[in-house]
Amino acid sequence: MKLIFEKSTFDREGFKLPKLDVPECKLPTDNLLESKKVNLPQVGELELVRHYTNLSKLNYCLDSHFYPLGSCTMKYNPKILETIAGFESFSNLTPNLSLSKKGFKYIQGSLALLFQLQNLLTEITGTSKVTLQPLAGAQGELTGMLMIKAYHQKKNNQKKYVIVPDTSHGTNPASVAMAGYESISIPTGPEGQMDLKIFKEKLTDEVAAVIMTCPNTLGIFNTQIKQICDLAHQKDVLTYYDGANLNAILGKIKPAELGFDIVHLNLHKTFSAPHGGGGPGAGPVGVVDKLVPFLPEPYIVKDKNDQFSLYQQSPDSIGKVAPFFGNFQVLLKALTYILILGKEGLEKVSEIAVLNANYIMESLKDYYQLPFRRRCMHECVISAQKQKEKGISALNIAKYLIQEGIHPPTIYFPLIVKEAMMIEPTETESKKTLDQFIQIMKKAAKLAKESPQTLKQAPANFIFSRFDEVKAARNQNLKYKNNNNE
Ligand SMILES: *Cc1c(COP(=O)(O)O)cnc(C)c1O
Repeated sequence: MKLIFEKSTFDREGFKLPKLDVPECKLPTDNLLESKKVNLPQVGELELVRHYTNLSKLNYCLDSHFYPLGSCTMKYNPKILETIAGFESFSNLTPNLSLSKKGFKYIQGSLALLFQLQNLLTEITGTSKVTLQPLAGAQGELTGMLMIKAYHQKKNNQKKYVIVPDTSHGTNPASVAMAGYESISIPTGPEGQMDLKIFKEKLTDEVAAVIMTCPNTLGIFNTQIKQICDLAHQKDVLTYYDGANLNAILGKIKPAELGFDIVHLNLHKTFSAPHGGGGPGAGPVGVVDKLVPFLPEPYIVKDKNDQFSLYQQSPDSIGKVAPFFGNFQVLLKALTYILILGKEGLEKVSEIAVLNANYIMESLKDYYQLPFRRRCMHECVISAQKQKEKGISALNIAKYLIQEGIHPPTIYFPLIVKEAMMIEPTETESKKTLDQFIQIMKKAAKLAKESPQTLKQAPANFIFSRFDEVKAARNQNLKYKNNNNE
């Protein structure tokens, strides 16, 4: 495929300036002016449109392909969310209005929406108060960790460690380290959940918190959560629920009612705002009563006259973690999604997400190895260990899926499963799509036995097939050089 520079010819122009209708004047000749000719490509408008349209078609996206990327919740993003977030009354609003008393008059409507979202997320998580500020899941985790730190410092508790099961999302130990704590990793037992015996041994007075990805990255829900939280609280150890993938339990249980003190949610996963290459995120954090004084400020409150304002009065608050109110339009999309679905709709989200993942796991269990034989939640982890005996890896299968028009699942994660493939279908996919995926996965298992070469050469229908992955990561050559070496 040619670069736009290579398509450039100087007999065509995409843009012409209109005829000069004012007196011409010379540009200043100081040293700020670029004197060399800038080598910009010259193509006609039609060629330009075709170039970028064809480039965009090389990309996998949710609007074009099934995208079962585990842990990432690539569900359909309803277009009405974009329409509403794009209303001029929102997109032309400046948060600077919140800096003056007069400005507050003009943003009452937007504050009302944020206040409503704060309350809905409080209700959904069972917590006492929610901050909407964090701009991503990982930032929500760090916010939680900083609150944990502030809580223990206030009480003069000497704490050094945070317990992290080895099936946690990778950002969990990273957030622990960023807050200045050391992680204690707990291995997984035969049931696919944290080994309770080892947890008890490691749970000393020096532990500040336990952070659990729920369900864990095996897609398994820990059935001992209540006991884990009780044991932790006996030693003033705080409990953190990583709820990035709340679509597993939405409307069914509330993390705080299970005994968790802090919960973060990824609105860009569970509540359907586009993410990854498609948009920014939001990782609100909810806390129970004892942590409310430490919440980031300001947050939105409503007074007796139904006027909305910002609360920032707690001397123990960890302060701001983002400018203004967080990613306002992401918050708006999540609110729209919640209001459209309502309570019953949200319950259906988790029911169908879990059903879809189990349907895939059950359909593939005779073709791929299952590391743990128990019901999964919103995603399932299968392994290509059987295929590995024939020299076929999870990577080969992922490449074959690309050839067949499917975005590969997350592979080689969680780390504790060899040749892992982590599949998250989400609730927005139809049974027909799931059946097509299952057929293709079965075909891959058959090819691994009968024609492994086909899998090793996949994708055969793409302009790029296989990369030297080390070189691609370490020796990046991202600069275009034309014939004049410019
Ligand atoms: C995606 C995810 C995160 C991190 O969220 P970001 O918005 O990417 O920072 C954390 N935990 C879990 C379980 C996740 O799936």
